[in-house]
Amino acid sequence: MSLSDTLKPLVIENFIGGSFVKSSKYLDSFDPSTGEIWAQIPDSDPTDVDDAVQHARNAFPMWSKTTAAERAKILIKIADSIEENLDKLAQAESKDQGKPVSLAKRMDIPRAALNFRAFAESICHHVNISNNLPEMGCINFTVRNPVGVAALISPWNLPLYLLTFKIAPALASGNCVVCKPSEITSVTSWMLCKLIKDAGLPNGVLNMVFGTGSKAGEALINHQGVNVISFTGSTNVGRHIGKVAANNIKKVSLELGGKNAGIIFDDADLSKAVPATINSCFLNQGEICLCTSRIFVQRAIFEEFVQRLVKETKNLKVGPPTEDVFMGPLVSQVHLDKVRSYIDIARKDGARVLCGESVDELSLPAPYHKGYFIRPTIITELPDSSACMQEEIFGPVVCLSPFDSEEEVIERVNNVKYGLCSAVWGQKGDRLLRVAQQLHVGTVWINCWLVRSLDMPFGGMKESGIGREGTSHSLELYTEETTICYKY
Ligand code: NAD
Repeated sequence: MSLSDTLKPLVIENFIGGSFVKSSKYLDSFDPSTGEIWAQIPDSDPTDVDDAVQHARNAFPMWSKTTAAERAKILIKIADSIEENLDKLAQAESKDQGKPVSLAKRMDIPRAALNFRAFAESICHHVNISNNLPEMGCINFTVRNPVGVAALISPWNLPLYLLTFKIAPALASGNCVVCKPSEITSVTSWMLCKLIKDAGLPNGVLNMVFGTGSKAGEALINHQGVNVISFTGSTNVGRHIGKVAANNIKKVSLELGGKNAGIIFDDADLSKAVPATINSCFLNQGEICLCTSRIFVQRAIFEEFVQRLVKETKNLKVGPPTEDVFMGPLVSQVHLDKVRSYIDIARKDGARVLCGESVDELSLPAPYHKGYFIRPTIITELPDSSACMQEEIFGPVVCLSPFDSEEEVIERVNNVKYGLCSAVWGQKGDRLLRVAQQLHVGTVWINCWLVRSLDMPFGGMKESGIGREGTSHSLELYTEETTICYKY
């Protein structure tokens, strides 16, 4: 495979039963920095999905009987191999998704390796609890068995990072899997199949079908041979998958959208809070489900915070992601149009746009004139009822608003349908902890953002999802637990 050969599109293949399989129909995949086709991906149909599920089912009796140590050995080889291929994978992730290569090297690819390593190590040290009942002459304990075939469906924003967060725990606990990455960013998942094959994972244990959600994804979630569905993506698709899973009584995990808030109290150290908040709003072009999309600043420091935020944001470099830039292009033309439409809504709702919006095409070197670029955008003076303050934009747009009291800010932060995460900045420990415990979100960062041990539960509440993932929490999803009561 040559990733530097941009003249001919890269043709990728499904990975089924340990073989790369050509497709009869392909979809174009675009380089977001140029708008040109750079890869063709299989437009898989229900027959391809059925083939993949059958191979997974056939491999399950063998794989589920391997020991945790045997499985961990292969997963650690995969982690090593991802690290050895860091440069190639980072280049591909950047070209496919639009993120700066430097970010993919620092965040996405190392995290993909860590996913395999962390779940491999954790499965070897998992201990089940037991409860002795001597008065009855019994001991109770539990055993966990893999569920069977897992359908793993992932989005386009952190392609390899998020898919491996599903693959690693599913395989570590003895399941076989069928993956369906986003049709917008399939390339690094396909590259991973080669690394997995070389690491010696038995044929059929991992299968990958590429294509659209409406055809390949729909066939996968409805397949009777699938026992558990793990989905990360939008709330609307998650709602639909939840209904399908409920109809078929299948286990399901849903990691969905967010409308995350930053809270800046008047005693926050702005030399740290400002740059960290900028990072939380605009890293990966604002295309991380955990990105800050609303910032509430205590009134006494509102003006100062806004000035510093806008000044530092204006200095961020936006451009071709191959260069040393902070932000590359958005993932697609459709997504760019959606993000721009929210800025239009904000204007109609009376907002002031303090910085951002379009990138002067001519300031970009050829061939980047048709890329999907936008500058990091800061908006203020919006009512909380505006769609911009309520709906997920999932791009580099943030809305700022002042607040007066602790009670007020808690109420306003919680007053959205989502509940994924928040970041709170200040110095009074008692206030920070009091607020953190009243926010209706799955994760609260205090004086930091995006730092988390993989042993901690990750997930959202309200319309941000159902279920938690993390070393022991993913085990809940990918295993069935049986209680055994033994009379001695
Ligand atoms: P999406 O829901 O459009 O697509 C996600 C995946 O689902 C893709 O692989 C897609 O092909 C597939 N899909 C679509 N329709 C399907 C169907 N009917 N049946 C089965 N599969 C189907 O989401 P997206 O636009 O790719 O990603 C952006 C969304 O993901 C945002 O809402 C973001 O917040 C969310 N997200 C959440 C988390 C989290 O951990 N909570 C992480 C990253 C992204």
